Amino acid sequence: MKQTVAFQAHAKNVFFHILTQCNLSCRHCYINPEQHGRQTLDIKTICKWLDAFSAQGADSNVIFLGGEPTMHPDLDQAIRHAHSTGYKSITVDTNGYCFHDILDKTSPGEVDVFSFSLDGPTPEVNDPIRGKGSFKICTENLQKAVKKGFGISLIYTVSTGNLKFLDQMPELLAKWGVQRFFIQVIGLRGNAASNSSDLNQLTRSQWDSVVPVTAEKAALLGIETTYPKVFLEPGEKFECAGKVAENYFIFPNGRVYRCPLCEDYPIHSLMFEDDRLKPVSGLHEDRFFDLNIPEGCVMNKLIQPGNVEYGPDGDPLYQVACCLLKERVSPPDQS
Ligand code: SF4
Ligand code: SF4
Repeated sequence: MKQTVAFQAHAKNVFFHILTQCNLSCRHCYINPEQHGRQTLDIKTICKWLDAFSAQGADSNVIFLGGEPTMHPDLDQAIRHAHSTGYKSITVDTNGYCFHDILDKTSPGEVDVFSFSLDGPTPEVNDPIRGKGSFKICTENLQKAVKKGFGISLIYTVSTGNLKFLDQMPELLAKWGVQRFFIQVIGLRGNAASNSSDLNQLTRSQWDSVVPVTAEKAALLGIETTYPKVFLEPGEKFECAGKVAENYFIFPNGRVYRCPLCEDYPIHSLMFEDDRLKPVSGLHEDRFFDLNIPEGCVMNKLIQPGNVEYGPDGDPLYQVACCLLKERVSPPDQS
């Protein structure tokens, strides 16, 4: 069954980039060291910053990100700290290299989900996007993690470069024992925004003709599948997560954003200074969240205007949803 996942007002989601270093150079990578920093946070700092979000209640979820978070030698300690200080769920987003024996140093009781990134059903599709040899290593470690009993999800970032292979993924995921599938949309940020990139965003008709059908197929195989809503239907209410939800995107240089589309600009609304979280004064992202425009999401209009189409009268044909709004398709026995 398909349903739109409503924003949760009372749950905090902490997307914690503990470093920006990575062993891969994916062609769509959104990491921008000029804006996000180049440092690797030490474990004391990571723990203090985690505490800043867990202090006010138990309903906090943390997603450890990078760069490649498993390149951090103390990721296992960070996970343990989050676990012992009451984080409700702990996710590690990995490119699959699983450095520092992270699968052996942690347990399914501490990590709720290891989320592996893979952008094709074969090395021939995946490796030109993510790097030579990455398919083999990612899929081997994914299956090792399944055997160890970890919860596993897989993220597939769809672009014009790999759209036609998306429908081959559900059978593979079922064979590997993956429980959740996230179909992600490529953003016009980082490497993907460079003029030389041939990985482009999909048009609405490309998206509509492939993504929902693949999600249904995966769900019928028992895999819960989530994808961004992207376009609102007539009558659906537009909401900006920056106003109605609590999402925090933390970077090693101390910047904390509420909206991922703002991350390439110095308009973060919060900042860690001396390990204390402080609001930033002046022009920052919160100011954009308050603007009501017929196109829906203000940041999409500003930085991804190609997502909006207009009729002959100049009115937008549809509203662009918040990039954090998701559709979830559940297996029939979980609906
Ligand atoms: S694995 Fe992630 S952080 Fe590393 S290059 Fe790829 S997209 Fe960027
Ligand atoms: S993507 Fe758009 S709607 Fe969502 S938080 Fe950012 S500005 Fe708000």
